[in-house]
Amino acid sequence: MIPRIDQTSPVQALYLRFVHALRDLGFTGDLNADYANRTVLATDNSIYQVLPQGVLYPRDTEDLIRIVKLSQEPEFHSIVLSPRGGGTGTNGQSLTDGLIVDTSKYMNRILEVNAEERWARVQCGVVKDQLNAAIKPHGLFFAPELSTSNRATIGGMINTDASGQGSCRYGKTRDHVLELTTVLLDGSLWTSRAMEESELEPVIARQDRVGNVHRVVDSIQREHYALIEQKFPKVNRCLTGYDLAHIRDEQGKFNLNNILCGSEGTLGFITEAKINLLPIPKFSALVNVNYRDFNAALRDAPELMKANPTSIETVDSKVLNLAMQDIVWHSVAEFFPAPASGEKIQGINLVEYTADTEEELNSDIKSLTSLLNQFASDIGTGRISYSIAWGSDAVNKIWGMRKKAVGLLGNVEGEIRPVPFVEDTAVPPENLADFIMEFRAVLDEYKLTYGMFGHVDAGVLHVRPALDMKDPAQGKMVRVITDRVVALTQKYNGLLWGEHGKGVRSEYAPAFFGELYPEIQRVKAAFDPRNQLNPGKIATPAADLALAKIDGVMTRGQQDRKIIAQVWDDYSEGMHCNGNGLCYNWNPNDAMCPSWKGTRERKHSPKGRASLMREWLKQMSERGVNAVQESKKIKHASFIFNLPTRIVNTLGKRRGDYDFSHEVHEAMAGCLACKSCVGQCPIKVDVPEFRAKFFELYYSRYLRPLKDYFVGGLEFMIPSLAKFPWAYNALMKPRFMQKFMARFVGMVDSPLLTGINLHKAAESLGVRYATLESIAQLTPTEKLNAVILVQDAFTSYFETPLVIDTLTLLKKLGFVPLLAPFKPNGKPLQVHGFLKAFAKAADANATQLNGIASSGIPLIGIEPAMTLAYRAEYKKILGDNAPKVQLIQEWLAKQTEQLSNQANAFKTEKFSLLAHCTEKTNAVSSIKDWQVIFNKLGQELNVIDTGCCGMAGTYGHESNNVETSKKIYALSWADVVRSPANAGKLTATGYSCRSQTKRIDNVSLPHPVQVLLRQSM
Ligand SMILES: Cc1cc2nc3c(=O)[nH]c(=O)nc-3n(C[C@H](O)[C@H](O)[C@H](O)COP(=O)(O)OP(=O)(O)OC[C@H]3O[C@@H](n4cnc5c(N)ncnc54)[C@H](O)[C@@H]3O)c2cc1C
Ligand code: SF4
Ligand code: SF4
Repeated sequence: MIPRIDQTSPVQALYLRFVHALRDLGFTGDLNADYANRTVLATDNSIYQVLPQGVLYPRDTEDLIRIVKLSQEPEFHSIVLSPRGGGTGTNGQSLTDGLIVDTSKYMNRILEVNAEERWARVQCGVVKDQLNAAIKPHGLFFAPELSTSNRATIGGMINTDASGQGSCRYGKTRDHVLELTTVLLDGSLWTSRAMEESELEPVIARQDRVGNVHRVVDSIQREHYALIEQKFPKVNRCLTGYDLAHIRDEQGKFNLNNILCGSEGTLGFITEAKINLLPIPKFSALVNVNYRDFNAALRDAPELMKANPTSIETVDSKVLNLAMQDIVWHSVAEFFPAPASGEKIQGINLVEYTADTEEELNSDIKSLTSLLNQFASDIGTGRISYSIAWGSDAVNKIWGMRKKAVGLLGNVEGEIRPVPFVEDTAVPPENLADFIMEFRAVLDEYKLTYGMFGHVDAGVLHVRPALDMKDPAQGKMVRVITDRVVALTQKYNGLLWGEHGKGVRSEYAPAFFGELYPEIQRVKAAFDPRNQLNPGKIATPAADLALAKIDGVMTRGQQDRKIIAQVWDDYSEGMHCNGNGLCYNWNPNDAMCPSWKGTRERKHSPKGRASLMREWLKQMSERGVNAVQESKKIKHASFIFNLPTRIVNTLGKRRGDYDFSHEVHEAMAGCLACKSCVGQCPIKVDVPEFRAKFFELYYSRYLRPLKDYFVGGLEFMIPSLAKFPWAYNALMKPRFMQKFMARFVGMVDSPLLTGINLHKAAESLGVRYATLESIAQLTPTEKLNAVILVQDAFTSYFETPLVIDTLTLLKKLGFVPLLAPFKPNGKPLQVHGFLKAFAKAADANATQLNGIASSGIPLIGIEPAMTLAYRAEYKKILGDNAPKVQLIQEWLAKQTEQLSNQANAFKTEKFSLLAHCTEKTNAVSSIKDWQVIFNKLGQELNVIDTGCCGMAGTYGHESNNVETSKKIYALSWADVVRSPANAGKLTATGYSCRSQTKRIDNVSLPHPVQVLLRQSM
């Protein structure tokens, strides 16, 4: 039995007092000093892990003012605050051992859009893609681009002065900032914008913090004008943050925003921003130029720039190959045909053009292609071939692939994995190829592997050398490599921090600013004299205060190495999350991750759960407990023998005895087990898998809720219960029983049995059960056309007409369907962590299915989650013995001849598909399969992008989850299902999804098979 984790790192008394005092002051947001919140926000995408004392989630600007004002009370002068947005920093920018102030949870409203004047006013926690989606109808967009656009906030972008693809055309974030509203540390609220001297004068005369800040900044510029001019490199990626070179802009106006942008939360809390918007270019295209050598791609960039593109991005063969193995490749494969020469592509330049007219675009593309064609035979350019993707849809798909590159790099086998620390160097583009040659020589010298991609037009290259940060010797390489790369960037007139900010790398700031560093410190001191805001980053307010050092901050590797090696390996599905935050995807119409979207709590995300799991395993390891061995013991332990102890422990839990495991449990219980993380996370973090292992261990110490037994056992009981459907339904239907189930079993709206006898229905259709005997009786032609439908409990017993319709359609199409005798699949057991029982059920089911599959007749299933379990959960325990069961559409789409033969027997119409999350993220091509089938049978099938329906198996039926389940439904399904335009046109593949639309909107959606059957004449 696992022990209780009753002690974790305690919150310092001063911070606890601060949090309590804040509450007394009327703070309206959330104050979280619990270990789960602290653990989850202890990492960003960097190599560092710093445990904060707590996390504050302000609801509005007043809350921020309350925080800073309280921090100025003498008692709290040593309190440290770090603002945080999406937490996607790659250099520990938002990490602190003080308090994290996360503005993304509540302060995420778009306050005003003025389409005529092309600007928007937003709160700092608005995500960039959220803003762009809102202003798209006005034909506008917020131009600064970054790979994390679906989760990075405007506040974070401003504070890192984010930029990326397209920066040569559109500039950086600060080029689009019109006004910033900042909460300064004395509690004053200041809105900064470019000012004429006449406006500046009265501000400078003020005797408060605002006046002091302006006085100091103005005097620095006046006193050190010549030195500033001489000091800062004139590269596209010029200085970010404390930008002394741009205190006065091109028009000579004083602009404090150029000091604030890129200041990494060290000067104040940006609460609102007024930002500039641009018209969306009407036409766009991307020319993908392939090279036989990556260096050739880099050297070619200046040549390509002559054709005046909007942007040029590059990726090396490593990134490209990883993309090819990822879900993302399905959307872009058609744009990357293999070169006719058969040569291997070692590098690609993606050259983008945008224009307001088609003619302009065509002419731009022509100027590039003539350049490419002219030198086609010149081996010196290294070019092999090129292809063109036309239109914004195609272009955005390719940019989507490129945006995923960092994450993809992390998806490698083994412990040596790419890590960020020298990943965003910038040099003048003409120096890039030589710089990279030397950079690669350094990495080769230490035998480090790496992948590369970046913005060649701006001279920025992303490189993540691969290290096992758990190995102390490899951890030390961070210092060795960084020092050498810093020297190289200086040699080539560039910067170490091209776009991802300084963060923990701030130790290099004094060397970079040189004689001007004391002036930078004066700026810091004017804003934050006591070094309370994100200390250690960029500048300290006094000479005797230290900056963060790259090897002076706790790394994740130092923590991870405390986990017992065997445990680390066994839980590998969760250990390699690198914190890139893709699972915080804002888009409600994307499947990733419903529990995060429904709660906006980071512990309810894949990253949150992976972080908690690591910490939990570390805590267990530190207590000498090997989770793998514990799991083995549990499987042999007696349920009855341990029961008294579990009862005692559960009573303790009810009394409020602390156990960190409860916090982990709460986060795991909020997971829908939809498996979107498995399909979409670039590292393939598999939350349902480690969650099941955790449940198994957790419930060896505590009692399980009754609902777990109900859900886990349903598949086994249902065949018997179905013999008396009236009795089951009469028991489950009455209100008092529903209330009883909700209160004592924890289940609501449990489905009712259809009462239809499938056995008889199949018999009347002439469909036989698939047994070795019945298969032996098939004629050769029948056998050739035979297919075995594998039953699942949900469809067979709660939606029997769908099984009957499937058999009917298959017969109509000329097939010979057989019905596999029902056996429990076991997936609900796996989901709830009954791992021993699952293994037993899977083994029995696999034996039967493999037996009938030995006939060579294909096995197919209707229910996506249950069917996909055969290639996922089953595969994990049975390996190659897992039965090969295809989704019905995967098999049917291949039966082209039968489909074509029957096409005339169908009326034609248009439909829209709402696909099941597990299916669209774990069997991506199966969605296109439905389109193929519908097309072959004369129908049109449009796939509607939606997130999760909120039901996910039994999640939405569990009393604790009903509210979140409905919230998730409201995020993306509700509008689609309720739209009159969609009435009668929708079809859904998931049993859960159909149950949810019926339960919430009383809309019964047919399965695609049922739609096709209806269309048949
Ligand atoms: C896979 C990956 C790819 C990336 N690609 C790019 C890229 O293409 N271009 C690029 O520029 N960056 C990139 N980044 C880095 C990162 O996404 C950006 O720096 C982004 O701007 C950070 O936004 P965020 O909301 O996550 O901010 P956070 O990481 O939460 O914070 C960043 C900094 O801003 C401060 N901050 C946040 N909100 C506020 C506020 N309201 N007031 C004051 N300070 C605040 C924090 O203290 C911190 O110092 C990438 C990161 C990853 C993981
Ligand atoms: S779970 Fe996956 S997507 Fe989320 S942060 Fe970790 S690696 Fe990135
Ligand atoms: S299974 Fe679904 S709900 Fe659970 S963590 Fe993964 S994406 Fe989120």
